[in-house]
Amino acid sequence: MSITNLTFGPVPSRRFGVSLGIDLSPDFKQCNYDCLYCELKAAKTVSKMTKYPSVKDLVNAVKDKLSSTHTKIDVLTITANGEPTLYPVLRQLVTELNKIKGDSKLLILSNGSTIYKQEIQDALLNIDIVKLSLDCVSKECFTKLDRADKSIETDKIVQGMIEFREKFTKDLILEILFVDTLNNKEKEILLLKDAIAKIKPNRVDIGTIDRPPAYKVNPISFDELEQISHSLEYPYINIAHKNRPQFQEYYSKEAIIVLLNRRALSEYDIKHTFDKESQNNLEELIFDKKVEIINNSGVKFYKIC
Ligand code: SF4
Repeated sequence: MSITNLTFGPVPSRRFGVSLGIDLSPDFKQCNYDCLYCELKAAKTVSKMTKYPSVKDLVNAVKDKLSSTHTKIDVLTITANGEPTLYPVLRQLVTELNKIKGDSKLLILSNGSTIYKQEIQDALLNIDIVKLSLDCVSKECFTKLDRADKSIETDKIVQGMIEFREKFTKDLILEILFVDTLNNKEKEILLLKDAIAKIKPNRVDIGTIDRPPAYKVNPISFDELEQISHSLEYPYINIAHKNRPQFQEYYSKEAIIVLLNRRALSEYDIKHTFDKESQNNLEELIFDKKVEIINNSGVKFYKIC
C-alpha cells in the first residue's frame, strides 16, 4: 500500500502533539453522515465501507513510517475520509497497532454514530483517546444537521456513549460543532447539557464552522459559543474557535474565583482574556493552593481546588 494513506504532522491538533494520521478510507468519502458542515464534498451516505486498505498494509505503512522518522510521534490518529468505525476490521487493526505503537498513544476521531454497537465499543476500549462527535440529541436535529444514514439508530447514540463511558477508563472527549439555526436552539442545548452530564467525558470541545462547508450553512459567533459553554454547565469545556477574539481584561483575585466557580477555564481562555496582571493574580492563587491546574486530555484547565 502506498504511504499516501498516512498523514504526518501535527494532526488533528497540536493539543495532542505530533500525530501520524491513518486514513481508513483514502480513496473516497465513505460516511454514514452527510453533515451540512462537512469540509469534504457532499456524498451519499453508506452503512459500511466497501473499499478499504487491509490491516496488513496499514500496519506495514505505519511500521515503515515509525522506523524511518527521527521525530517522536505522540499519537497515531485513526481517521478516515468519512467515518473510521465503518472499517469492517477495526478491532483487529487496533490490536495490531497497539503491538507496534511503542510510546505513542492511539487516538480515534469518530462521529459517534456507531457507539451503541457492542463490537464498536469492544474495539474502542483498546484505544487510548476516543474523540466522539455529538452535535445533536433529538432525532429532528440528527436528520437535519448530520443527515444520518437510515441504518443508524440515532435514539441509541447517547445511551451508547453512557454505557461506553462506564467501561472506558481512558480519555473520552466529546466534540460538538454548532451551526446557526440548527443545534444552537435552546431546546437542543438543554438536551445536549443533559446528555453530557450523563456521559461524563473528560472534556467537551465546542466549536463552529471554520472551513468552507459542503452545504450553505452558517457558523455562530464566538460570543454565542461562549454563552453556550455556560449553558452546558459542564466543568471542562474547551472553546475551539479559529478567529477567537482577544479581549484581554483585568481580573482581580476575587473576580477570578467567581469566574472559576462558574466553570474551569482552559489555557486558551486565560491566554485570550486575562491581561498580564490578571495572569499574575492567577499564578498567586495557584501558589496559595486556591486554584489548581489539571491536564485534561492534552488541554490545561484552571479550576478551584
Ligand atoms: S461525520 Fe465527518 S466526514 Fe462524515 S459527513 Fe460529517 S463531517 Fe463529514
